[in-house]
Amino acid sequence: MANPKIKSSAQTVKKSNATAGRKPAVKNLYPRADLEEIFRRFSIQRPEPKGELEHVNPFTLVVAVALSAQATDAGVNKATRALFAVADTPQKMLDLGEERIREYIKTIGLYRNKAKNVVALSQKLITDFGGEVPRTREELVTLPGVGRKTANVVLSMAFGQATMAVDTHIFRIANRLLLAPGKTPDEVEQRLMKIIPDEYLYHAHHWLILHGRYCCKARKPECERCVIADLCRSPEKTWDIPAPLVELPAQIIGAEATS
Ligand code: SF4
Repeated sequence: MANPKIKSSAQTVKKSNATAGRKPAVKNLYPRADLEEIFRRFSIQRPEPKGELEHVNPFTLVVAVALSAQATDAGVNKATRALFAVADTPQKMLDLGEERIREYIKTIGLYRNKAKNVVALSQKLITDFGGEVPRTREELVTLPGVGRKTANVVLSMAFGQATMAVDTHIFRIANRLLLAPGKTPDEVEQRLMKIIPDEYLYHAHHWLILHGRYCCKARKPECERCVIADLCRSPEKTWDIPAPLVELPAQIIGAEATS
């Protein structure tokens, strides 16, 4: 007689087929309908959200993101405008040389180390990738100065892949709102990828960054200006009437960048 506790392989296959394509459940305070509504509102506020780091091609995006660690986007843009005007390919960057790169980026924190990385990553792109920016996370993180977060930004902004690059704003919001609480950026990334409705995933990373930068700010969230104040379950929230849902005017780059 078959042991009822032992599932046949046919049963297992049937079950995995039934759940195929569905995201595994994650413990989360927000019902599905609320998650849909939160991201629907973000999508109305910012239909075409954009990153604020200036770049002219995938290579300059990699460099800009690598330079942005512990610096504001506005500060990086100020330095890279002149740098990218003279060096927008790995070869041109190598020709420029570490010392001159340092001169261009000396207003950015940790610039000595970052200049070294820019040279090393340009060299590696030429040696290992024919001068092109690779399109997989595994390859991107082999570049000096490029971690998982940078790789995710590049995959999303340069190659249109849905990723979740967890920066300081996203990490704070995920934990403050108890949306996808986690102790590390990787944990938060995995949870957000599971709970965000698929149709909103591509833009979600920018929506969360911009919401964190301009509304749910680090020191004091501006709940009276928040379009999800009624849905937010943060113990820190001070207001629960949602702000009017209107499309925001195009943001001025770096105007309030305080990251
Ligand atoms: S209600 Fe306040 S705490 Fe909640 S998301 Fe909005 S700004 Fe942040």
